[in-house]
Amino acid sequence: MVLACFLSAAIGASVALVVGGSVERAQRHARVRRANGVFRVQTGRRMVALTFDDGPDPRWTPEVLDLLHTYHDHATFFLVGRNAEAHPDLVKAEVQARDEIANHTFDHPDLELLSPPAVMREIESGAAAIQRAGAPRPKLFRPPKGFTDEVVGVLANAHRYRTIFWDLTVEHFVDHAGVVEGIQELLEKVRPGSIILAHDGGIPNRSRTVHALPLLLRGLRARGYRVVSVSQLLANARRANVAPR
Ligand SMILES: [Zn+2]
Repeated sequence: MVLACFLSAAIGASVALVVGGSVERAQRHARVRRANGVFRVQTGRRMVALTFDDGPDPRWTPEVLDLLHTYHDHATFFLVGRNAEAHPDLVKAEVQARDEIANHTFDHPDLELLSPPAVMREIESGAAAIQRAGAPRPKLFRPPKGFTDEVVGVLANAHRYRTIFWDLTVEHFVDHAGVVEGIQELLEKVRPGSIILAHDGGIPNRSRTVHALPLLLRGLRARGYRVVSVSQLLANARRANVAPR
């Protein structure tokens, strides 16, 4: 009942803002928009989570799975429901490899531009597609591009999701510099509890990401880091919700 009241109040407030324009809605909530999400966890253990967004994609996902297998590491895949539906064999391969499967919506829209019912449909359809492809019901959620606001946060919480952001992005380091130099720079910024974002799908060519992955996995190992799923990282957290630097 309390949750229901909170939900309707929060959604009501946001509907009013949508009338005033979605840009205004996004700006007004700039400060609270990421308040409930996890960027990095505080832990004394040298462990990090590696996350892949926007897959599964037959061009990149099989190679990513092969590399994770080679290095005995596990990742968390934030799947786009539409892609899970198109490639259930790859979802099953991720499950069989004991990687974690998480929800990245059905169609990858900018959620803050959608009405509350449309946001709800994106979250629910994403989970349904993931389950139909053979994965367990996801417990973690990541809004596309990290764009979220109060409505998205409330609806994700209502669906019992933990919202996961990141503190480092592989493509940020390797897409505009040499892969070796880029990964070196990224490794210098990694800290215990970091959540690293990479992509195994989406429109851009991800060959640089795939090319960088062995360097990243070897570099993390050389620095004494274990690569674990986000849920494992959260289980080892003293505090989870640390803003990026
Ligand atoms: Zn995405």
